[in-house]
Amino acid sequence: MAVVAFIGLGNMGSGMAANLVKAGHDVRAFDLNADAVAALVDKGATAASDLTHAVTGADAVVTMLPAGPHVRGVYMDEGGVLSLARKDAVLIDCSTIDVDSARAVAEKAAEAGFAFVDAPVSGGVAAAEGGTLTFMVGGPEDAFAKAEPILSNMGKAVIRAGEAGAGQAAKICNNMLLGIHMIGTCEAMNLAIKLGLDPQNFFDIASKASGQNWSLTSYCPVPGPVPTAPSNRDYKPGFAAPMMLKDLNLAMQTSKSAGMNTPMGEKAQTIYDAFVEQGGEEMDFSGVIKWLAGEMK
Ligand code: NAD
Repeated sequence: MAVVAFIGLGNMGSGMAANLVKAGHDVRAFDLNADAVAALVDKGATAASDLTHAVTGADAVVTMLPAGPHVRGVYMDEGGVLSLARKDAVLIDCSTIDVDSARAVAEKAAEAGFAFVDAPVSGGVAAAEGGTLTFMVGGPEDAFAKAEPILSNMGKAVIRAGEAGAGQAAKICNNMLLGIHMIGTCEAMNLAIKLGLDPQNFFDIASKASGQNWSLTSYCPVPGPVPTAPSNRDYKPGFAAPMMLKDLNLAMQTSKSAGMNTPMGEKAQTIYDAFVEQGGEEMDFSGVIKWLAGEMK
């Protein structure tokens, strides 16, 4: 079992770190928020008073931070992970960030001789707590081999996507697709209801016809057909709408710099931007069904 420094104990990181404790690792927990550290200590982790205390001598460092600038800072700033970690430690960033930041950190880590991977996740807070996340991993094969046993304590699937940044690339392409098919599913449901169809009946038909997709059958945006979906609890997240907007913004930024044509992704970004702006900030991303139905403008 390893000594693991875990940095970033928010909605996702707290459950992930708790699963590392459950797996028998000696987890040194650090967050800028002292309450988040205390909550993890209650679950069996050791409190780290600062980054130095968490990272010095650890076998592995896992970060779960909000966005690219946080990740760049925690790894590359003076007194950051790259100046503190043991040279044979494996460094794993699970945050969802832009591909350029992921590659910049990977490059600096490689120059300093570290095994580093970007390993963003699919699955929300429930999957983080339940240890059923899917990890999409970018980095050299040997770094992947060192990271995989740690990641498998927190997820049901750990898949290598390619070299540095490839995990982030897979994540934003997946979430662009998710944003698009959630909006499509909401539009179809709203129209079906307007045309007099019963939502459960339309669900039964579309889920066995060519309209079948994850947003419909695992996360249905109308209450009833999928009891675990946020639509049954007034669209309380789940996967918050601003998080979806963040991922679509990353996808569009990356698409532009790659010179790609992604009009549906662009439209999804515009719609989520308006939804978040007009009352969706605290809602699950499937709540966009209400915005599309004209109930929020
Ligand atoms: P969060 O805001 O709840 O947690 C982030 C934590 O990082 C906070 O506790 C914050 O205090 C801490 N932090 C920030 N800067 C720090 C620093 N310099 N040193 C130490 N701690 C620091 O966010 P979250 O919902 O846990 O999401 C984390 C990442 O996971 C994001 O990149 C997000 O896009 C991604 N993600 C989230 C979900 C979800 O459903 N919430 C799903 C998949 C991926």
